[in-house]
Amino acid sequence: MAVDFHLHSAFSGDSEAPMEQMILEGIRRGLRTMCFTEHMDLDYPEEPGLFEVNTESYREKFLQMREKYQDQIELLFGIELGLQPHLAETHRNYLNEWPFDFVIGSSHVVHGKDPYYPAFYEGKEEAQAYREYFESILENLAVFDEMDVYGHIDYVVRYGPNKNQYYSYEAYRELLDEILKALIRKNIGLELNTAGYKYGLGHPNPTEAVLKRYAELGGEILTIGSDGHAPEQLAWDFRKIPSLLKECGFRYYTVFEERMPVFYPVETF
Ligand SMILES: [Zn+2]
Ligand SMILES: [Zn+2]
Repeated sequence: MAVDFHLHSAFSGDSEAPMEQMILEGIRRGLRTMCFTEHMDLDYPEEPGLFEVNTESYREKFLQMREKYQDQIELLFGIELGLQPHLAETHRNYLNEWPFDFVIGSSHVVHGKDPYYPAFYEGKEEAQAYREYFESILENLAVFDEMDVYGHIDYVVRYGPNKNQYYSYEAYRELLDEILKALIRKNIGLELNTAGYKYGLGHPNPTEAVLKRYAELGGEILTIGSDGHAPEQLAWDFRKIPSLLKECGFRYYTVFEERMPVFYPVETF
C-alpha cells in the first residue's frame, strides 16, 4: 500500500497523461495515496511559460477527481515549485493563495540555465557544474524555506556529460552536508526520488550515501516520489524502497496532508 508523492499529469508542460488515467493506474496498482505535484517554474528561461501550471484548472479537475474516486484512493493536491532566488516573494504569495497539501521545492534552473541542456556544462568542468548546482540550492535555501521538502537534490547528475559516473557523496561532501544541515535546521524535508532508476543511474536521487548521511545528521522528514509523468512511470521501482530506507537508517517515511507531516513505519510502505 505505497504512496507516491511526486507525480505529474498533463497540467505539467512535459506530460501528456490525463490526470484520470494516472489515477486509474494508481488504483489498479493498489496505491494508498497519490499526490499530484504539477510543475510551476516561473521565469523558465529555456522556454518561457512551458512549466507554468494553470492552477485554477488544475484545482478544479483535482476536486472533481477526488470526489469521483474518494472511495478508492486518497488524492492530494501538491505543487513542484521551480526555485530561483529572485522568485522567493512571488512563491510566498502563490502558496498563500492555494490550499496545497504538499509543496516540493526543486532546482531546475541554475543561474539562468537548466542543467537538462548541454549549454549548462559548456566552458566548465563537469565537477564545477555539479558544484554550481549544489551551491544554487544553498542560495535558494537562504531566501526561501516555505517548501515541505527539497526535490531530487542531485538532479544535475541525471544530465551531466558523464552522468553519475564520477559522482559520489564523498566527492561533494562539503556542499551536500551544508545542504542537509540547512534542511534540518529549517525543518524542511528531503525527497527520495526514484526517477534516478528510470534514467539508468542505478540509484535514486539523491543517492543512498546522501540519504544515509541525512539520517545520520538527524534528518527525519523523507517523502517518496517517482516523479512519474505517465501512468507506466507511477511508483517506479517502489519495491526497492522498504529495504533501501532501512539500510539508510530510516524507521519512518513521511506523508503530508494540508502541509503537515505524518510519519509511517517503513514496514507499511
Ligand atoms: Zn523536478
Ligand atoms: Zn517533477
